Amino acid sequence: MALKGNIPWNKGKKGVYSTTTLKKMSDARIDRFSGENSPCYKGKYIDGHGYVTLRVNKEQIREHRYVMEQFLGRKLSTQEHVHHKNGVQTDNRIENLEIISESEHNRMHALEKAVKGMVGFQLQTI
Ligand SMILES: [Zn+2]
Repeated sequence: MALKGNIPWNKGKKGVYSTTTLKKMSDARIDRFSGENSPCYKGKYIDGHGYVTLRVNKEQIREHRYVMEQFLGRKLSTQEHVHHKNGVQTDNRIENLEIISESEHNRMHALEKAVKGMVGFQLQTI
């Protein structure tokens, strides 16, 4: 069978979108991501660990630590961890936050994991 005359699948298609369409799309993007309601407002975003992260004075800070620092009126040390009482990492209301030591914090989360593991185990054995 002769392959001669086969037309490449992309023949005549120079990109899926025209330049004007692309321009419109990028403008729409800018609209969507600007202004107070945008997730990028003041560089606020959720990081890979599920924490709300802010950009304050060109520095990245997790919002729960920032909220606690504002509340205390001082900087937190690296040994001072801020824990979310209800376990919701994005709930950064001051009443949901508490300062605990690094070791206490690790113990707390290890315990949480263990409890979850036990619940999972019970469900499996029923
Ligand atoms: Zn915690």
